[in-house]
Amino acid sequence: MSLQLDIVTPDKLVLSTSVEYVGAPGYEGEFGVLPNHIPFLCALQIGNLYYRKEGRTHYVFVSGGFADVSGNKVTVLAEAAEKAEEIDLDGARKAKERAEQRMKDAQDRIAYARAQAELQREIARMSAASKAK
Ligand code: ATP
Repeated sequence: MSLQLDIVTPDKLVLSTSVEYVGAPGYEGEFGVLPNHIPFLCALQIGNLYYRKEGRTHYVFVSGGFADVSGNKVTVLAEAAEKAEEIDLDGARKAKERAEQRMKDAQDRIAYARAQAELQREIARMSAASKAK
């Protein structure tokens, strides 16, 4: 028995495939989904989701999302999501440096928090990209 995994952002369908297992960065910790999981809805952290398919593990960067598990289907709705192998590592590294600079220059807490969230996203992108096969 397999699971259907769909990852959707406002701009695109990032992934729609049949998998054996999904591991996702839930807000209260990582969780895993195998076929026949109970229905479940969970907010995701900025981080890396992974799935197993035909003996291989694949990684996907996700940010600002929810995962809905029901009827052997995992649907992830995220603000941004990118397959590890499609991440521009150099771009993420540069964006990380810009975010670090913005944290240093921030004049108020909101600007600081925005830059910090951006930094977290770029670190998670770099981490996903480093695991791409
Ligand atoms: P974010 O706000 O999610 O950190 P961003 O501000 O760098 O991203 P956006 O303009 O919001 O960029 O994103 C445009 C598109 O590019 C989105 O689909 C996003 O998933 C993707 N994207 C952003 N950074 C990278 C990257 N380093 N490699 C691949 N795709 C990326």
